[in-house]
Amino acid sequence: QAKDAGRNTTRFFNPAMQAAIESRMALETALRQALVGDELQLFYQPQVDQDGCCIGAEALLRWRHARDGLISPAEFIPLAEETGLILPIGQWVMDTACAQLKIWETQAHCRSWQLAVNISARQFHQPDFVTQVRSSLDRSGANPQRLKLELTESVVLENAAEVASRMQQIKALGVGFSMDDFGTGYSSLSYLKRLPLDQLKIDQSFVRDIATDPNDAAIVRAILAMSQSLGIDVIAEGVETEEQRAFLHANGCHLFQGYLFGKPRPINEWTLCTSIPAHSAQRVNL
Ligand code: C2E
Ligand code: MG
Ligand code: MG
Ligand code: MG
Repeated sequence: QAKDAGRNTTRFFNPAMQAAIESRMALETALRQALVGDELQLFYQPQVDQDGCCIGAEALLRWRHARDGLISPAEFIPLAEETGLILPIGQWVMDTACAQLKIWETQAHCRSWQLAVNISARQFHQPDFVTQVRSSLDRSGANPQRLKLELTESVVLENAAEVASRMQQIKALGVGFSMDDFGTGYSSLSYLKRLPLDQLKIDQSFVRDIATDPNDAAIVRAILAMSQSLGIDVIAEGVETEEQRAFLHANGCHLFQGYLFGKPRPINEWTLCTSIPAHSAQRVNL
């Protein structure tokens, strides 16, 4: 305890802490550099229907670090949120995603694909967020109906009324909403009837042991029953095995995302997938 350590404590000059602070600052500087230096890249992971046909993708951010290689968002999104860098980064993600949507719209086999974009709480709550979404859509010329914004429960934790009205404004543009990592947050379920959600995304932690853990199976069944009565779509994330897919399907889940269908990939590695006609029964094979 600080008090026990006395007045002459050297707490703040602890070498381990000093090192942590320095590496955090170095990371922040590098991330700022990444944004201007074109080191950020979107990967795309397919989302499929019950026939295995691609219905779109989720855009997932990667940082191509010159020395350290590919860095996953789990390692830099939290810092980006803390420092506010998530705002310009989020804007870049939205612009890049909308541009990709526009490209898909011009290709027959992927004209109706949707693209899901992750939105952090800080991004959603900035005053001009609605304007930013509208500008990205305008600049790209993408169809707003194809854009889906993924929120987490942390976004709706406070100010439910304000969140609902902001979501309504964005929905008025034609854009849809999905609740990501559903079931892992601490929010009250009452937000489900107040917010204009189009989709719930079952978190991969419930999917993982779905076929063997009765609790996970029960939670997933409850999510599916609830969303059905609320008229909200459900997609399962983290589907890795045929067993998981079959269980989900048998319980009324018709949309899937996971390694079973394809890992997140740069768009130029999507040639196999994009050669599949939208309504063929062929599986996406990435
Ligand atoms: P998320 O939105 O819940 O994305 C799903 C994560 O699960 C992704 O991790 C994806 O690669 C991974 N995943 C997909 N299928 C499987 C599977 O079958 N098995 C396993 N084990 N994992 C699977 P990723 O790409 O590392 O992203 C992690 C998180 O970072 C995302 O979770 C999201 O919260 C955040 N994130 C990613 N891109 C962005 C972004 O552009 N903006 C913001 N604000 N957050 C982002
Ligand atoms: Mg997501
Ligand atoms: Mg998720
Ligand atoms: Mg997640």
